[in-house]
Amino acid sequence: MTNEEEKKNTISRRQFLKRTAAASAAVAAGGLVQQGVAFAKEKPAKWDKEADVVVIGAGAMGLPAAIVAREAGAKVILVEAAFDIGGHAITSGGNIPLGGGTSAQKKAGINDSPDLVFQDLTDWSIVQPNGFPDYRYNDREIIRAFADNSAPAFEWLLAHGVVFVDKAPDTFGGISVGNSVPREMHSAAMTWPTVQTGKPLDPTVQATTSSGNGLMRPLEVAAKKAGVEILLEHKMTTIYRQTPNSGRVLGISVDKKGAKLSIRAKKAIIIATGGSTGNVNFRRMFDPRLTEEYCGLSGMPWSDQDASGEIAAMAIGASLWGLYNQTGEFGTTITKPGTIGCQYNYRNLRWMPGSAVFRLARASGLPVSNWQNVILVNMLGKRFYDETGDQFTANNAKLVDPYVPGSYLNAEKIDYKPSNFINAALAGIGDGRNGGGPIWAIFDSDAVTRERWNPKPPNVDIDAGFFFTADTLSELAAKIVMKYQRVPVPPKNLEETVARYNSFVDAGKDEDFGKPTPKYKIAKPPFYAAWATPVVHDTRAGLRINAKCQVQDLNGKVIPGLYCGGESAGGFSQHGLARAICQAYIAGRNAAVEKTTG
Ligand SMILES: Cc1cc2nc3c(=O)[nH]c(=O)nc-3n(C[C@H](O)[C@H](O)[C@H](O)COP(=O)(O)OP(=O)(O)OC[C@H]3O[C@@H](n4cnc5c(N)ncnc54)[C@H](O)[C@@H]3O)c2cc1C
Repeated sequence: MTNEEEKKNTISRRQFLKRTAAASAAVAAGGLVQQGVAFAKEKPAKWDKEADVVVIGAGAMGLPAAIVAREAGAKVILVEAAFDIGGHAITSGGNIPLGGGTSAQKKAGINDSPDLVFQDLTDWSIVQPNGFPDYRYNDREIIRAFADNSAPAFEWLLAHGVVFVDKAPDTFGGISVGNSVPREMHSAAMTWPTVQTGKPLDPTVQATTSSGNGLMRPLEVAAKKAGVEILLEHKMTTIYRQTPNSGRVLGISVDKKGAKLSIRAKKAIIIATGGSTGNVNFRRMFDPRLTEEYCGLSGMPWSDQDASGEIAAMAIGASLWGLYNQTGEFGTTITKPGTIGCQYNYRNLRWMPGSAVFRLARASGLPVSNWQNVILVNMLGKRFYDETGDQFTANNAKLVDPYVPGSYLNAEKIDYKPSNFINAALAGIGDGRNGGGPIWAIFDSDAVTRERWNPKPPNVDIDAGFFFTADTLSELAAKIVMKYQRVPVPPKNLEETVARYNSFVDAGKDEDFGKPTPKYKIAKPPFYAAWATPVVHDTRAGLRINAKCQVQDLNGKVIPGLYCGGESAGGFSQHGLARAICQAYIAGRNAAVEKTTG
């Protein structure tokens, strides 16, 4: 190659790289714009409202963060997209694993310390029976901050009116909570009406039943008492920064029932928007299989987790972090349903007709007490796995016994037992498309009797196509027409599947999937097909943050004034409430002492 040619080539390579970068940026921008979040080029000409700290989202992270910042002297506005506060937290079981030496642990004689919490949540040696690790990929800086603030955050909840069930900490309800010692406390439902039913619990169990209502309603009272301004049905759409990629954050735009409002944040903005698994395109960055049919996000329709916080922050330069925690096969990121025949079928949440969101949920579902009573088939009417199989496992105190921190023996003590139900359900039908498609529970009228189901609305959702009935199996197959069923169920397939399964019941052996002694034939009409598609549950990867919960860019540089925690933050594999509350405690204090901008 001549010098001239080399020069020409170098230029064209440079130009190519430049053009590719520009094209990628345009694609990225297009993607973000498509998600309804515009790039924040210029701040609004005028601000409609202002506060020192603006918190986005009134769930387990946002509500306590707002109170903490307010009590530290900041004027706080809290915007919430939904019609009520609470987020997924108010629908939750209220099982809260905050430890490190809480007063509840001390009262029960449990020795714990921040160092032990840190050690447990960063222990490389923990693996699940399917070989996947819970804690190996946690960010040490983020876990250290959690460990150090865990006990103070618990005491803070007590001081702000949260009543806990009066018993020693345990390892009962939450999962992935750490190994060494019991840490989990349970916020008592008390007299608050539950969001699931619209009614309070029976007075005899109010103080002994764990519930997210018992966490969030007292905090709502505390927030109002402290003077936090709560704006419901205000959905953040944009975060403004001095320039899209440099300088402090300035404020946000919100959508208030179609009207645009801009809110200035003089000190800081806290993103507490609860994660990304409700956004199909976003969640498919972690797992391409999770296409549209996984529409039963747990916690919905009370509140969504549509990645709006992540997307708005990424539009001003924020980075994502800790992505393995979302893709690793452990915990409750994707779950087996607990009810069938309705869209929102998460195993620990049933919407009842008295709920304020029942018109959106449409049905309560039929709770399955024994998976022997149904077979599960894919879009082609074919079985794909042992129906009694379960979702991915998660670490808990009982799994590794005895547990020796950091020891290779922990893994040696685990019997390798893969839990592949979810993978089989998401495998698809071999047509080259992503996504497993709808999964249908097929059963007969004898199963209805055994399960004591009433297969009628409001228990099942016939109108939206999540439940079908027919007198013959071929009629049933033909009836299965709905939004996500992209191919017809061949009637012959369903007949053959049921006939083969019935022969396994006669033989006492499932030749295809090893279901332990198949028990019941599917023979007595009418026959039923009920939605039983896996449920997307929590987000465990999100924005890159540091120990102070400050959001960082791709180079680890803090975006001045921007904070995040809970399910929208990355770096932490633990499920649920504890990390959200603890990060609220951290972010609220740090946001309140930011310098005020002019
Ligand atoms: C049924 C169920 C049971 C659970 N049980 C437990 C349990 O027992 N123990 C446990 O530890 N964890 C549990 N969890 C998980 C726990 O509830 C969540 O991890 C926790 O609530 C996450 O807190 P967060 O603040 O990040 O999100 P959330 O609590 O979901 O709050 C996010 C809030 O942000 C709002 N929001 C989103 N986008 C915007 C926007 N653009 N503008 C304004 N507001 C916005 C949402 O509407 C929502 O109110 C459970 C979850 C569910 C669904």
